[in-house]
Amino acid sequence: MTVELKDYWQNYIDGKWVDGSEGGRIKVLNPADNRVLTEVAQATGDDVDAAVAAARRVVESRALITMRPMDRGRMVIDMGRKLRERKEQLAHLLTLDAGKRISEAMGELEGAAKYFEFYGGMADKIEGRYIPLGEGYVDYVVPVPYGVTAHIIPWNFPNNMIARSLAPALAAGNAAVIKAPELDPLTCYVFADLAREVGFPDGTVNILTGYGSEAGAALASHSGVDQIVFTGSVQTGVSIMKAAAENVVPCVMELGGKSPGIVFPDADMDNMVANMQAGIFMNSGQVCDAQSRLLAHADVYDEVIERMVATTEALKIGPGIEDSDITPLISPEQLNRVEKYAQIGVQEGARAVTGGKRIEGMEGNYMQPTILADVTPDMRVNHEEIFGPVLTVSKFETTDEALSIANGTDYGLAATIFTNDLDRAIWMTERLEAGQVHVNEWGVGGNETPFGGFKKSGIGREKGAEALASYYQSKNVGFKRLTSQG
Ligand code: NAD
Repeated sequence: MTVELKDYWQNYIDGKWVDGSEGGRIKVLNPADNRVLTEVAQATGDDVDAAVAAARRVVESRALITMRPMDRGRMVIDMGRKLRERKEQLAHLLTLDAGKRISEAMGELEGAAKYFEFYGGMADKIEGRYIPLGEGYVDYVVPVPYGVTAHIIPWNFPNNMIARSLAPALAAGNAAVIKAPELDPLTCYVFADLAREVGFPDGTVNILTGYGSEAGAALASHSGVDQIVFTGSVQTGVSIMKAAAENVVPCVMELGGKSPGIVFPDADMDNMVANMQAGIFMNSGQVCDAQSRLLAHADVYDEVIERMVATTEALKIGPGIEDSDITPLISPEQLNRVEKYAQIGVQEGARAVTGGKRIEGMEGNYMQPTILADVTPDMRVNHEEIFGPVLTVSKFETTDEALSIANGTDYGLAATIFTNDLDRAIWMTERLEAGQVHVNEWGVGGNETPFGGFKKSGIGREKGAEALASYYQSKNVGFKRLTSQG
């Protein structure tokens, strides 16, 4: 499958493809060889102003909220169907600019299409309610979309993360301004075409690529924005929340994680190994809910390490287009960061039982899949997000101790328990501080299930029916009858 790789891509504002206001361009590199793939227009603060103004005009026209919600929902569903029709081409593009393996790119696109189907089907199920206040009063609650929603997107799943928030935003009747990630924006522009093809008015969906410190910060602090959805690092999330506070604007924050996989002696070991491998090495570990910490009971500690090392050393390393298991990291900076963390772990006293370094002699940003054993709770590698193919392994003796290590970080995104003891599993699920708790399979859930973080992993939820409520607010309307009739 080949894909059309234009040598320049523009931003999409108010239904038109446009250059950056200052004519700047951002080079997009292929992580598999760090060569320039193409260039994209660099959005500035002025471009953000234009995009927000376009979205505001749509909101003020009331075009999105006066149409019947079932019709709006059908348009959202159609966006998903059209996205699926382009899945192969887009997956190819995603492999080129994000570096990820082609089968995972296909999965990302499929998941993105499903968001439009799921939330499109909910557009006509957003209902208000009647509140009885006694004789002579009529009172009801109306769900009202916020208006202009801002979507600031990370590079690890660029297409899927847009779909995850754009679909419910449109289903609820909002207009959107999307800030695509500057490292891999190429599959983000498709949402402009989809919105236009299904008939949304110009200005409903605006897509800009720009640097976070320029276009991202301008969007987060824009007084014309009514709601913000951010997915990315805690540090950026905090700065966006501060900007939102100035404008008193609600935010959904989907931030980082340091999620544990907890292995008890009675676990099905083949299942555990398969899930731990997927949980840490999918997208080369650049996954917010990556299972980056393995906590193993002392009775099986050595066996778990031995089996994980064997499966890790059998992984195929290479470009995403060859569907390799371990693909290049997104950028040279990310590779430096991940390799540095592996070194920090060893300096702190961890044992690199496999990997630990970048791969020399290969073009691109390749890191050896790495396992650091004998990690203790005080080590930085136990509680700081690495965001690469580095698994830490820690030993525990009691269930209480496992829980304490699992909950002992600032993050609270996900946790998986591997056991066949139902009572123990229930006890752990009740106490783990995580937005997603899985038993015997990493990532149980899907578009239908709510996703988000406890503690510094975030605020609010994406996915599932819960997330839709982040895209509208309540208006209470009350009537008093002044005369009695008859
Ligand atoms: P990042 O915070 O560096 O960037 C995310 C986005 O924010 C990018 O579009 C960037 O340009 C923009 N940005 C950067 N600085 C900004 C600023 N000052 N103001 C406004 N926008 C700004 O994160 P990243 O490196 O792209 O992504 C990795 C992080 O995202 C990890 O921590 C990962 O765990 C997290 N993540 C979380 C989820 C989730 O659902 N919880 C999903 C994916 C990624």
